[in-house]
Amino acid sequence: MSELNLILLGPPGAGKGTQAERIKADFSLLHISTGDMLRAQVAEGTQLGKRAKEYMDRGELVPDGVIIDMITERIASPDAGDGFLLDGFPRTEAQADALGAALAEAGTALSAVVLMEVSDDEVVRRLAGRRVCVKNSAHIYHVEFDPPKREGVCDQDGARLIQRDDDQEDTVRRRLEVYHEQTAPLIDYYEERDLLLRFDGVAPVDQLHVRIRATLASVSMQQRM
Ligand code: AMP
Repeated sequence: MSELNLILLGPPGAGKGTQAERIKADFSLLHISTGDMLRAQVAEGTQLGKRAKEYMDRGELVPDGVIIDMITERIASPDAGDGFLLDGFPRTEAQADALGAALAEAGTALSAVVLMEVSDDEVVRRLAGRRVCVKNSAHIYHVEFDPPKREGVCDQDGARLIQRDDDQEDTVRRRLEVYHEQTAPLIDYYEERDLLLRFDGVAPVDQLHVRIRATLASVSMQQRM
């Protein structure tokens, strides 16, 4: 296996989407964000989207079965064969088990899990001010820490910036509880499998990116040897 198959792990608001954009460019990976896939289904008004929205608006997880089917199909497609970056998946132990089984069946495996650690207070501060582009949710701003040049307008494509429904403070608190209960146990899960790489998610975006890129470059080199 020479391709990099990665997971980005961390609480909501850790900056996974921002780092994902950079890492995918560094290593030519397919970026798979379950949150983005679900939001696309909601926007299209599909059955799945309608069902998922109820959970998403409450800050709860969409049931495992739905997510697992969606992801196993995605990573089995040819464009995932040169390496992928999972962002927002897995979020439960059942999802992690299903991913491991699907990769084993495809004759491949995970290369590493990148954990971005950020405190709860920092998450609330970040998400309350987060704004995303209506056209491309990878274009992310913060009203205080990373404002666009023109208020409410995306620097990159001139589209409108909005606050995600689930970035309201109450929902953020619920998403954090869910993260601690259901997703944080994956830290031990991947540590036991010797796949976990820890990073301080509070470091400035550029610095964090340089650190992650350097570490992954050595993972990639070791894999080739
Ligand atoms: P995100 O953009 O990753 O923060 O995801 C937004 C919302 O989509 C989450 O709060 C969940 O409701 C849902 N979601 C995304 N990924 C998953 C997943 N792997 N398992 C269950 N629900 C998910």
